[in-house]
Amino acid sequence: MRQKLVAGNWKMNGSLESVRGLMEALEQGIGSVQSAGVAVCPPAVYIPEVATRVAGTPIAVGAQNVCDEDAGAFTGEISGAMLKDFGCRYAIVGHSERRNIYGESDDLVARRFAAARRAGLTPILCVGELLSEREAGATQEVVARQLDAVLALEGIQGLAGGVIAYEPVWAIGTGKTATPDQAQEVHAFIRDKLSREDAAVAQDLVIQYGGSVKGSNAGELFAMPDIDGGLIGGASLKADEFLDICRAAD
Ligand code: PEP
Repeated sequence: MRQKLVAGNWKMNGSLESVRGLMEALEQGIGSVQSAGVAVCPPAVYIPEVATRVAGTPIAVGAQNVCDEDAGAFTGEISGAMLKDFGCRYAIVGHSERRNIYGESDDLVARRFAAARRAGLTPILCVGELLSEREAGATQEVVARQLDAVLALEGIQGLAGGVIAYEPVWAIGTGKTATPDQAQEVHAFIRDKLSREDAAVAQDLVIQYGGSVKGSNAGELFAMPDIDGGLIGGASLKADEFLDICRAAD
């Protein structure tokens, strides 16, 4: 039985002061979340602060990206082992902002995914189509291509115990959430595609939805059979809103 997972992607937001305030509020409120897994993914420099604060709470910490190499001359990158050293459990890979603003290819994302696993991190693999791709009827083709890059490198067993976040790019940070039916259709497509490789892995796989999730729409999205929680951007910066979303996943 899969456990729902709600992860907050703080992106490049916050200051030491605001991170402390947000964490205090989350520490106080987390007791009201019954069964959903909860994680926060701060900017890398705040990971040590956040990891210290969540020790002894059910909140896990994740990174927003991870280097595809394990060590060496890769200026500006952070390895999986370093993230592990500072208490990370998850690493987001292939976020649409990395793919579309920084030009990360499917192959690079797959290598980052593999590096996360080598370090003992659980990768949260983001997939999703642009608005133009949806309008061209290419949603499944795009998502399949993004998944195939990881399957080619890691095989289906690479996804065992993993997390995928379906994030339609047109819904990220725009206030335009996919309808529960639109999201469910793609989640079912992902699970079905992976079932053809290994039914047990696909059945256990956590598939989050991401894209303008709020306290007010989380319940209907998370009620869909193949939506196992969410990857939350903007709303994860407000403790009350984020906790509402976490409780909606209970
Ligand atoms: C995200 O960045 O992964 C995301 C889903 O952002 P938002 O919730 O702000 O749309």
